[in-house]
Amino acid sequence: AAKDKGRDTIALYDEDMDRAARERREIESDLREALSRGQLRLHYQPVIDLDTGEVAGYEALLRWYHPRRGIVTPAEFLEVAEETGMIVPIGEWVIRQALAETGRWEGDFRIAINLSPTQVRSPHLADVVAQAVHTHGISPHRVEFEITEHVLMQKGSLCASNLEKLRELGAKIALDDFGIGYSSLSYLRRFLFDRIKIDRDFVEGVEMSADSQAIVSSITRLADALGMATTAEGVETRAQLDLLRKLGCQEAQGYLICEPVPGDNFITLSAAKAAMNDDASGILDYRK
Ligand code: C2E
Ligand code: MG
Ligand code: MG
Ligand code: MG
Repeated sequence: AAKDKGRDTIALYDEDMDRAARERREIESDLREALSRGQLRLHYQPVIDLDTGEVAGYEALLRWYHPRRGIVTPAEFLEVAEETGMIVPIGEWVIRQALAETGRWEGDFRIAINLSPTQVRSPHLADVVAQAVHTHGISPHRVEFEITEHVLMQKGSLCASNLEKLRELGAKIALDDFGIGYSSLSYLRRFLFDRIKIDRDFVEGVEMSADSQAIVSSITRLADALGMATTAEGVETRAQLDLLRKLGCQEAQGYLICEPVPGDNFITLSAAKAAMNDDASGILDYRK
């Protein structure tokens, strides 16, 4: 019986593998059409300045409006896009779209755009950016690119020279998901970032954990010493927000403030902000 059971388990396992492989192939073939069919959209999440409570900028986050699956998040397709190289045309679309939308909105806020390792290796990256800022009349100083240490783990000089070119254009570079990688500290020495984004891992439960507090305050002091700004990611409670500010964090982003919303209803962001201002327990009067 034990033997039979083992065989069943293996059969089930095979079925799961089959299903996963089929799913992956389907994502891949659907994704090939997604761009030309206009199924990709950007959502934007505000980042607030913890001193003033004002919106300092927005991060563009990719969404796939799939006709059958509904709204698909990057976790479900980014790996396929990266492995097939589709991330290059998709990423170029992201850059153009984010800057086009930014150009239509009032205000001098920063726009943050995520870049994957393959994108940073792509030879046209800086040209695409230069052309898009020009076309949409955006000052390159308002644009910040977010990369993870996976980008810097790549061999070859194209990556470093692309980052340098983005810098020369006037764009800023942030280190995303800081702290959860293998050797984040050595990357701080290798490249002079403008900003460190403290991963949600350290934000989650920070109000309950003295260790997390010690880590966050070390990161903010380290960033200060290196002349880099800090943004905390994934802030979900008021207690976290208050504490992060106390620990020296300059900016914060998270569902507490606002979740990522579609750019074509950018108005909802101002509405959300107004609602938060009205609400006595709202986010924008935490300064007192
Ligand atoms: P990321 O750049 O670290 O973005 C932050 C992620 O945290 C986003 O997930 C955001 O929706 C989510 N988030 C924000 N606030 C909260 C919160 O309070 N709680 C929780 N639990 N989550 C929060 P999303 O949009 O699913 O994106 C996941 C990752 O996919 C991003 O992580 C980024 O690495 C990548 N990505 C997103 N858009 C793009 C893009 O246009 N190009 C590239 N290359 N990568 C992208
Ligand atoms: Mg990011
Ligand atoms: Mg992040
Ligand atoms: Mg992340």
